[in-house]
Amino acid sequence: MPGKIILLSEELINKIAAGEVIERPASIVKELLENSLDAGATELSIVLERGGCGGIHLADNGAGLAPDDVPLAFFRHATSKIYQFDDLYQVRSYGFRGEALPSIASIARIEMRTRQGSALAGTKIVLQNGEVQETGETGCPPGTQLQVSQIFDNVPVRKKFLKSETTEQQLCLEMVSRLVLPHNNLRVRLEAGGRTLLSLPATRSLAERLSLLFDPEMARRMIPIDKTEGGVSLRGYITPPDHSRSNAKQIQFYVNNRFVRDHLLQHAVMTACRHLLPEKRYPAVFLFLDLPAGEVDVNVHPAKLEVRFRQPQDIYHLIVATLGVALGGLAVSPRDQALPSFRELKSPRADYETRVREALKRYTVSTGKEKPVFYPRPSGEIKGATPANEPPPLPFSAREESPLPDRIRFNELDYLGQHGGSYLIFSAPFGLVIMDQHAAHERVLFEELKRKSQAAHNDTTGQRLLIPEVISLSPEDFSFFVDIRDTLADLGLEAEPFGGDTVVVKTTPAFLKEKEPKRLLLDLLDDFPASHRQQTIEEKREKIMISLACRASVMARERLTEAEVADLCRILDATPNGYTCPHGRPVCVSFSSRDFQRLFKR
Ligand code: ADP
Ligand code: MG
Repeated sequence: MPGKIILLSEELINKIAAGEVIERPASIVKELLENSLDAGATELSIVLERGGCGGIHLADNGAGLAPDDVPLAFFRHATSKIYQFDDLYQVRSYGFRGEALPSIASIARIEMRTRQGSALAGTKIVLQNGEVQETGETGCPPGTQLQVSQIFDNVPVRKKFLKSETTEQQLCLEMVSRLVLPHNNLRVRLEAGGRTLLSLPATRSLAERLSLLFDPEMARRMIPIDKTEGGVSLRGYITPPDHSRSNAKQIQFYVNNRFVRDHLLQHAVMTACRHLLPEKRYPAVFLFLDLPAGEVDVNVHPAKLEVRFRQPQDIYHLIVATLGVALGGLAVSPRDQALPSFRELKSPRADYETRVREALKRYTVSTGKEKPVFYPRPSGEIKGATPANEPPPLPFSAREESPLPDRIRFNELDYLGQHGGSYLIFSAPFGLVIMDQHAAHERVLFEELKRKSQAAHNDTTGQRLLIPEVISLSPEDFSFFVDIRDTLADLGLEAEPFGGDTVVVKTTPAFLKEKEPKRLLLDLLDDFPASHRQQTIEEKREKIMISLACRASVMARERLTEAEVADLCRILDATPNGYTCPHGRPVCVSFSSRDFQRLFKR
């Protein structure tokens, strides 16, 4: 529980650089929410008016303030969280600069009611333009309730910089999600415009929090991270490489539970993922670094979004190595467990680089991710058994020293036949290739759609239906349909609202003309869980293309003639990214002749 509030000394005030704290409604939400957390709150209710631009109400069940402390809390640099300069380096609370409340009060009207649990009555204070308008006793529940209104009314320039209310609201929601993630015992309700945006119960684990705050499917697939080294603990989750995202928004770091943006940490993550993700794709990763307070300086940014580490290279190194292991890249064999130093990471020694590359190749092979990797017979003698001191080889892994050819020409392979109605089997001089016919076709169609939709003259024509089909949708599906209507039309699926929640479909994409229009539209909407409906236009567009490609491609258990297989191979050869389907699954896996020798113990 915070102690008594005091005024910081002049000297300390000068040592703390003052700065802009309140930029937009989301910054107010951040400061208020952090104060509630510092006050030990376990329950929070936040209501936004006009996306936070019109007003922000917050109520917590935290410790509350003593009557005498109430006016003090609004003095600049009045805080109950640090008392002397050295405390700055031990600070565990979110706040310590005593700037938030006076800053908010200077740009808005703020009304606070607060009561400490043991007190009989609460205290009320109203400020406007930084001036106290009213104080006095009031009845109120234990904890603190704040109402912020007339935001930026007296700073019109600031107001102009705000985005639309929808965007500001979205930023507030992102802020809340970010701040509450580490606090399992905190219950939060966020409402806006009469709707509940978030209703988060207390949770048992970070994994559970992630699945409630973000995409549950993503949370389910995430790989746990847990490593402690030299007094620094690194915990969290990262998505496997086939679950990448188109932006870096979900790369989130917490240092001693404080959300931070940090180039060094971001760089470390991208280094660990290098070669595992296609270009311009990012993992979702939530990393929690815990280190002794003296190892990190949190007073380097006015909104405390950046920190400075005492030993940045150790942190960098820990992240690269730990994520590398988690992603299956580095250190899969004991030899790789000697960790590189920071200098090596910056200008890697040849053998370290080779080891990393080899390790990554092994990963590539064992999951079939990115490119199928195959291994021509090494020129020298092939020794039969694995030497006793080497770890046993992973199935189908390769330790060959010879350079890897980087592309298969499918058209030049010998087609042997189809297995299980789904897999096409080919023989090649270097080994055996197995292709997933659905994944291959899906990639081909997706790339084709992408190419057409990016072309200056979009010639993705729709096939006009003889009888337009009327389909009735649920209200949510209908409003989402309106949202993506233009994108659908661009891709050849033209449909229009037709009264109530119904739509009329006029054309379907030419390559999907055999599909029933109703199924097509409903399946497409089903492919968008609620969490994906908030994505950017570009993300939605990509997802729609994936969904259409998936519906149109040959299915598992469809018989293909040899001519059709030859066609597929020819087109696949001409298709970029031909080694994974648009969902990130492999199109084919390969076994080298050497793999066979090893399997048969030759
Ligand atoms: P800081 O958080 O940096 O100390 P603020 O201006 O945000 O500065 O808050 C000033 C003081 O007001 C805090 O130190 C705390 O004592 C008190 N305070 C603010 N919000 C709350 C709250 N929700 N519950 C209890 N005390 C609060
Ligand atoms: Mg504060």
